[in-house]
Amino acid sequence: MSDTLETLLSENRSFPPAAAFRDLSVMNNPEVYADAAKDPEAFWENWAKTLDWIEPWTKVCEFESPNAKWFVGGKLNVTHNCVDRHADGARANKTAIIWEGEPGDTRRISYAQLKEEVCRVANALKSLGVTKGDRVCIYMPMVPELAMTMLACARIGAAHSVVFGGFSADSLQERTNDASAKVIVTADGGWRRGNIVPLKKTVDDALKLGCPSVEKVLVLERAGEPGTGVNGMTVRNYERGEMVEGRDIWWNDLVPHQPSDCPCEVMDSEDLLYILYTSGSTGKPKGIVHTSGGYLTGVTATTKWVFDLKENDIFFCTADCGWVTGHSYIVYGPLSNGATVVMYEGAPDTPDKDRFWRIIERHKATILYTAPTAIRAFMKWGDEYPNRCDLASLRLLGTVGEPINPEAWIWYHEVIGGRMCPIVDTWWQTETGAIMISPLPGITATKPGSATMPFPGINAIIMNEAGEVVYDRSAELRGEATYEKPVGGILAISGVWPSITRGIWGDPKRFQDVYWSRFPGYYFPGDGAKVDEDGCFWLLGRVDDIMLVAGHNISTMEVESALVDHHSVAEAAVIGRHHDLKGQAIAAFVILRSGMDASVEELKAHVAMKIGAIARPDDIFICAELPKTRSGKIMRRLLRDVAEGRALGDTTTLADPTVVASLKDQYESSES
Ligand code: ATP
Ligand code: MG
Repeated sequence: MSDTLETLLSENRSFPPAAAFRDLSVMNNPEVYADAAKDPEAFWENWAKTLDWIEPWTKVCEFESPNAKWFVGGKLNVTHNCVDRHADGARANKTAIIWEGEPGDTRRISYAQLKEEVCRVANALKSLGVTKGDRVCIYMPMVPELAMTMLACARIGAAHSVVFGGFSADSLQERTNDASAKVIVTADGGWRRGNIVPLKKTVDDALKLGCPSVEKVLVLERAGEPGTGVNGMTVRNYERGEMVEGRDIWWNDLVPHQPSDCPCEVMDSEDLLYILYTSGSTGKPKGIVHTSGGYLTGVTATTKWVFDLKENDIFFCTADCGWVTGHSYIVYGPLSNGATVVMYEGAPDTPDKDRFWRIIERHKATILYTAPTAIRAFMKWGDEYPNRCDLASLRLLGTVGEPINPEAWIWYHEVIGGRMCPIVDTWWQTETGAIMISPLPGITATKPGSATMPFPGINAIIMNEAGEVVYDRSAELRGEATYEKPVGGILAISGVWPSITRGIWGDPKRFQDVYWSRFPGYYFPGDGAKVDEDGCFWLLGRVDDIMLVAGHNISTMEVESALVDHHSVAEAAVIGRHHDLKGQAIAAFVILRSGMDASVEELKAHVAMKIGAIARPDDIFICAELPKTRSGKIMRRLLRDVAEGRALGDTTTLADPTVVASLKDQYESSES
């Protein structure tokens, strides 16, 4: 194998930092990076001090690979920090959550109201036998009660495990049993594309499959009986499940009758806050563990700085709370900062493809945080949808989840941001808990497709295949080393940060193997990256997906971006398939923009022109859809299975299993 990752694509567009964002005193000062590199523990300790603690820590950090502890001995309560300290202070009447249901029903919940509701839910959970240290599985639509339940768990010291409402009974059963949850909190159903997702029915099915730890099921009435309706939308027929006497309780029969105060449990900084399963892009999902003090410190700091959060911001993060982005940047990070968040229940194309833009217009959202997969869908749908809405309230845009192709970045910048809004492309993982690499909008020049700089206090490095450090950002910042750039390789993190996962639930061996064995002593995220002449990081896709073509390591990201650069291409997924002579041949699966056309030869030539003949795809397969995880990420490993004629690997996290099945059929018939 060749030693380094080739860096092929050169992207020269650059956007200066936004002067308007430089009014946070410390953010005026690019020295923040070097200062944090000199003493990362002091940097994080200063952030921890912005939280309310019941007892101070005795030691900032203890790390014995792979186990990290932060703010050792400190005691706090996460919900106190996210709710009470605002409700009991100047933000009592400030809106914490602006919620919009898919049928168009809306609610605004102030911090004072949120506190009362969270207390009621907390008391309800206690009455169901939940105590400190127990696990509660949450399988709910995106309604305020979902956030309230998460916060209620944290209030009483129970850990939550939120399972995305699109998962099947099998996946729910597996996750419930893995966490041995005592209670499941769900709803009769939630709205999605004008239909009802039958959540309670799925819980019933999961319980029939066998969930021995579950004692009670708390059921919110969100959808209601078929035939009823909200905002002129009629609830179509759906399976509402069956309430089992002694086990199942309606939310309304229990929660509203509870007292509206409930003390916050005193939690150790290292006590469990939640378990959350990864997206399953690369294999079977991992139950990632997060604890209290360090996690809250990480999400508080990154929300404030990456999103340049101001008191009057309206923060719209389009993620579902079933993913880590919803945990860290709808619930814990923004609420810890006393912000106003927008939470939306349904699909982006219901009733029309302008839904997100209508939400922004209606609630005057100032910050939008979404995913490249969504941005590519918006591009495919066309500019008319955003163009007919007033998006002038927006001042900052963010993306997360996958590398963003430069063309999609430019579209986001121009059509959504009106060329006025900086874009923060944020690289991080379920395991990292908080944003790791991202611009700080007031001080970082942005480049389409680059996540730019590690957050202060994070030491991102580049390794070569042999495990030698070829770039150490902090050493460079401290003036201890200089490096030849650009340099490509494998991303690793040196040292630990407060919100790093404390492990895989119940599987310390897998934790050690997956993250700590590739480069002993360093955290290995599994992504390839390059650093350009200016020290900006470019995430190049999964290490497992890197292609080895005639002795060259080529990243999927660069070939995909070259394809998306073609005016007819909306989305592309690239994989390496076995080739007798070259080692691997490049195969591309391409979706065209609606109404556009392009020949396979033209697309191959475009890639060769953009990045060189070496990356010219051997096969291009034009298709209508790509297999994606339920969180919207392209699953290249399944495309590899298709291209190599193998049986498909773990498909439980696929959003739509029919997509890959029909791709397989088409691919096989096109070969013959
Ligand atoms: P699994 O770990 O189960 O295979 P997953 O890695 O997709 O699933 P997540 O934790 O949801 O689960 O996603 C983290 C991954 O998403 C990162 O490792 C990276 O590959 C990708 N990613 C997230 N944000 C970005 C970004 N801004 N740029 C590039 N890649 C990103
Ligand atoms: Mg992962």
